[in-house]
Amino acid sequence: MLRVGLLGFLHESNTFAPVPTTYEHFAATSLTRGEELRERWLGKHHELSGLLAGCEESGLTVVPGMATYTVPGGAITAESFERLAAELIGSIALPLDGLLVALHGATASETYPDADGEILRRIRAVTGPDLPIICTLDLHANFSQAMAELATATIAYRTNPHLDQFARGREAAWLMARTLRGEVQPVQALETPPLLIQISRQHTNVEPARGLYADLETVLTWPGILSASVTMGFYYADVPEMGMGFLAVADGDEALARRAARWMSERAWARRAEFVGNLPTPAEAIAYAKETTRLPLVLMDVGDNVGAGSPADSTILLAEVLRQGARDALVVLYDPESVAQCVAAGVRHTVSLRVGGKTDALHGAPVAITGTVRTLSDGLFVEHQIRHGGWGHGDQGVTAVVETAEGHSIVLTSLRMPPMSLEQVLSLGLRPERKRILMAKGVVAPRAAYEPVAGEILLVDTPGVTSDNPAVFNYRRRRKPLFPLES
Ligand SMILES: [Zn+2]
Repeated sequence: MLRVGLLGFLHESNTFAPVPTTYEHFAATSLTRGEELRERWLGKHHELSGLLAGCEESGLTVVPGMATYTVPGGAITAESFERLAAELIGSIALPLDGLLVALHGATASETYPDADGEILRRIRAVTGPDLPIICTLDLHANFSQAMAELATATIAYRTNPHLDQFARGREAAWLMARTLRGEVQPVQALETPPLLIQISRQHTNVEPARGLYADLETVLTWPGILSASVTMGFYYADVPEMGMGFLAVADGDEALARRAARWMSERAWARRAEFVGNLPTPAEAIAYAKETTRLPLVLMDVGDNVGAGSPADSTILLAEVLRQGARDALVVLYDPESVAQCVAAGVRHTVSLRVGGKTDALHGAPVAITGTVRTLSDGLFVEHQIRHGGWGHGDQGVTAVVETAEGHSIVLTSLRMPPMSLEQVLSLGLRPERKRILMAKGVVAPRAAYEPVAGEILLVDTPGVTSDNPAVFNYRRRRKPLFPLES
């Protein structure tokens, strides 16, 4: 029997977010080992689920080590990274024939800007240079040459919203099985042109992003190519390897892998002007929301994109809704203080609160609201459908719904929760399809959840640590030049 280890370490680290990520964040969200790992991920839509399924189908014996993830946030503290890395490496049960590792690719710690590369370096230190290691990555990886050199092969998601996580995990497991049986000999080549693509242009169902993945599909038809990946990078991380990556995995032919990666990279570079865009301002968006008949209108709060590490309590759009007198909005805000006030008041009681805008000074000030506590909830929900993230269930902490006289439903959560699942609000008894305005703190990822109910989706140029415009960030470590910051 072929024994294959399985590890997972996933975090999207926003180095501009003021609240650092710690060991406790991982432990509270999901940290499993051994059989517990299998139980947590079997049957879900995550790549860890795909890796487990692919091993089962291809006859590999999985030896689960540790897998952990948490909601995107600030860089991981130095101490927490050391503890997580030590536990992760310590969970590798040698001897093994191969090792499968689910990484994000845009993980940064206070000490290691390329934390994924550092993890792979430490893994190699215990496995030696020859053990086949196959990684999966998020499409938003800042793919480093170190990562490409340390892994035998790498497979990233090909969709945004990320709906193919399971499929990519499965693909990685099958590639491992074929490798271990001597059927193929994967070698990979990575091209990292000085290019980034604005997040508002990253929806893979439409141009310009669709073309990148059409090119990838073309490369997959080339004889001798085993896999290919296009990573869009994560420009909310100020790290030297920030930007796009184009990777090809070929069967024993490094020159072929290089040719394929370069072909995709050069075609993207030639179209670089298409990856730059502009969005409406909050004032323009709310004015439109008051007039439109394509309801509900989903407003994407691009500057407070929780799935990219922002605080989840931006009040910029809510303040504009109140200023312009728009009605019937559904807003979710992270605000444990206000939740506590609602709990103290109890359901059916009137509360006057100052909601949101409490994490930092970058996402608006607290907004005064008065309303009735409609619902108090444990904040737990289950998502059975294929949704970005593939987590399967969510915990937004104790949660309160406050209804105002203007028809607004203000959802206040005790934990930061990206809007990847409509169950986040359905589980509270809310009816999003009957609202005029739904605010989702994200850009592309929430589409999978919101498209089924949306009359229209509008991206809004709100300020914040996940601004659409890379020019607003004060970078110190990124490489230069990098289009479109330098042309
Ligand atoms: Zn992503």
